[in-house]
Amino acid sequence: MLIAVDGPLASGKGTIARALAARFGLPHLDTGTLYRAVAVAVLEAGEDPVDAAAAEAAALALDPAKIEEAKIRTAGAGAAASIVSAHPRVRAALKSVQQTFARQPGGAILDGRDIGTVIAPDADVKLFVTASADVRASRRWSELVGRGETVSLDQVKSQLAERDGRDASRLDAPLMKAEDAFELDTSDMDEGEAIRAAIAIVEAAR
Ligand code: C5P
Repeated sequence: MLIAVDGPLASGKGTIARALAARFGLPHLDTGTLYRAVAVAVLEAGEDPVDAAAAEAAALALDPAKIEEAKIRTAGAGAAASIVSAHPRVRAALKSVQQTFARQPGGAILDGRDIGTVIAPDADVKLFVTASADVRASRRWSELVGRGETVSLDQVKSQLAERDGRDASRLDAPLMKAEDAFELDTSDMDEGEAIRAAIAIVEAAR
């Protein structure tokens, strides 16, 4: 079974994808880690994320096995990731690693922005996870503060609006719901409720 989970930042898609992977015994790829790692490599090389050639070179040189969680989870890495991910050549360079993962014989689950639309349009089940901007901002803020970052809720709200805008407006593989995706709005759900709802959708669809 191939499951595609897409949605905006802090919608709950990552938590849902991890829980579905455990429930259905599937290998899971959080594709945002690839874009974040490219962004970190660009920044560490002293280059500008806006520079398409530098970002493409970092994407082509990326070794997914060497991604360091602590480095890619910062707000700075997320912001730069949303810039490098708009370069079509970066998306092209990261496509085959995602598709190879998706085509494993036993099935897989991938989460990101364009899994159901571009990476795995033939997925057996597609989920599009959403939540209101306010709910997502407060989730994201708690996560960053929990990690020791000093940031205000208002700053997180404006960063989120900026990243949502970039993800939805880029020309190549913008964030959008696949026509055949099930939409799951987690605004009024706690983690357990969102996971149970996602499992029910997958069970019903398979
Ligand atoms: O999901 P996460 O916040 O870790 O992703 C970081 C950034 O990478 C997103 O803001 C988005 O711009 C980009 N991304 C993407 N396509 C994906 C996954 C992430 O463009 N499949």
